[in-house]
Amino acid sequence: MIAMTKLAERFQTLQTQIAQQQTPFGQDVQLLAVSKTRSSTEILEIHKLGQTAFGENYIQEAVDKIQQLKDYPIDWHFIGPLQSNKSRLAAENFAWVHTIDRLKIAKRLNDQRPTSMPPLNVCIQVNIDNEDTKSGFLANQVIEAALEIAKLSQLSLRGLMTIPQATDDRHQQQQSFTRMKALHDQVKQALRQNNLDDNTFDTLSMGMSGDMDAAIQCGATIVRIGTAIFGPRPTKV
Ligand SMILES: *Cc1c(COP(=O)(O)O)cnc(C)c1O
Repeated sequence: MIAMTKLAERFQTLQTQIAQQQTPFGQDVQLLAVSKTRSSTEILEIHKLGQTAFGENYIQEAVDKIQQLKDYPIDWHFIGPLQSNKSRLAAENFAWVHTIDRLKIAKRLNDQRPTSMPPLNVCIQVNIDNEDTKSGFLANQVIEAALEIAKLSQLSLRGLMTIPQATDDRHQQQQSFTRMKALHDQVKQALRQNNLDDNTFDTLSMGMSGDMDAAIQCGATIVRIGTAIFGPRPTKV
């Protein structure tokens, strides 16, 4: 028997935990390994165990790692706040951006996405608990935004993303995620009614290490997990 590293052990435990979850909506659940503040070496170790999707929050840190790991078939997802002056780096280096929190950023990404690349997959970020400190569209602004973003040819509108109010209370977690699921269904319907393609609107990006189970139960299709794979994050310097 080859001894597994702690990292490999945590990764396999998490995979088992996801596979054993009930999915009342019958959805596939994809694991996004959130690798902010982690080294390329750590990312590679998880990649060699079969993980292909990695999420990053800080654009410059991400671009450095993407360069270092460019020979590996990794799908990079941007999940951090995106400043306008950094949008070009996101448009040129990522397969996905989960954090579309205003129309202006969607339009910039659309203009800056190289035509030689496939359309950039995007999710609309929703401030589902109306928190002053969180970015994202309020729930009642999402349909209008989706109808605009769906028309941008260099973007592929894939779904909705949220970071709900932090809580250990399972019931409260489920309330926020349930509202996200309902909103997702409404957007899908609105796209169809406006003769926009809704076939690729299939993503609900929600659930982190502390609320993954509730998110999956409520219909998450992508869970974004950092700590449960890589361990506690070193404090940022
Ligand atoms: C850091 C981060 C995560 C992962 O959080 P963990 O609690 O470490 O699993 C998920 N989503 C976003 C947007 C993040 O910034």
